[in-house]
Amino acid sequence: MRKKIIAGNWKMNKTHREGMEMLAHFFKLLDFELSLNEDTGKKFPEVVVAPPYLIVADAAMLAQGWDVKIAAQNCSSEKEGAFTGEISAAMLKAVKADYVIVGHSERRAYFGETNQLVAKKIDRALESDLSVICCVGETLQERESGKQLQIISRQIEECLFHQNNEQMKNIVVAYEPVWAIGTGKNATPEQAQEIHKHIRLVIAGKFGKDISENISILYGGSCNPKNAKSIFSQPDVDGGLIGGASLNAKDFIEVIKAIL
Ligand code: PEP
Repeated sequence: MRKKIIAGNWKMNKTHREGMEMLAHFFKLLDFELSLNEDTGKKFPEVVVAPPYLIVADAAMLAQGWDVKIAAQNCSSEKEGAFTGEISAAMLKAVKADYVIVGHSERRAYFGETNQLVAKKIDRALESDLSVICCVGETLQERESGKQLQIISRQIEECLFHQNNEQMKNIVVAYEPVWAIGTGKNATPEQAQEIHKHIRLVIAGKFGKDISENISILYGGSCNPKNAKSIFSQPDVDGGLIGGASLNAKDFIEVIKAIL
């Protein structure tokens, strides 16, 4: 059975104080929902929160009392040394982060990150024993010219195909159509399902059925309490990477509940 995951990406939002206050509130709401859910037999998804770097260490410490994983939104492609302003995967592991998000479309678009750089970041993360959420997705122009499957295949190949089967067990893929991120225009459940199924096929072609059937593939892009249920109901959608709707504890809880 593959893992269901709901991950919140705060992006560059919240000061340390705002973030810690929201987390304390969110953990209490989550605990309440877990207690309500206890008798239903429904399995809660794994919950991941990706705050800005400055909050990661304290968030990870606070999260230890709760069943929530903490992710960083990025890491360096280098191990250590003269790379001013960078944060290494080992530093994140040392403060007890669990995951790192790599290849987010905002990093690809605004910071020029290529598949090759993303591949190196994944190597650093796995070496430091972090799990990885690897984002892929096509732009509006690529979709309008019918190239989405080709683009996604290439991103998967160039970011992930150099890994081995064992390493793939620590990878989660997030399909995030660029035209849906922060735009209020989500992919339809059918569009998401088509791409998720394709991603699973591409992964099966390289790593075999066992890996492809067990890898979690998340949908991201304007997912909110209103549309989450229909997107998560698709057979190849194993959860979501949530931006805007993860900034508010109540909305994030509603998105989490949509997968139950
Ligand atoms: C994201 O940034 O990963 C994302 C999915 O953002 P939003 O939910 O705001 O579209």
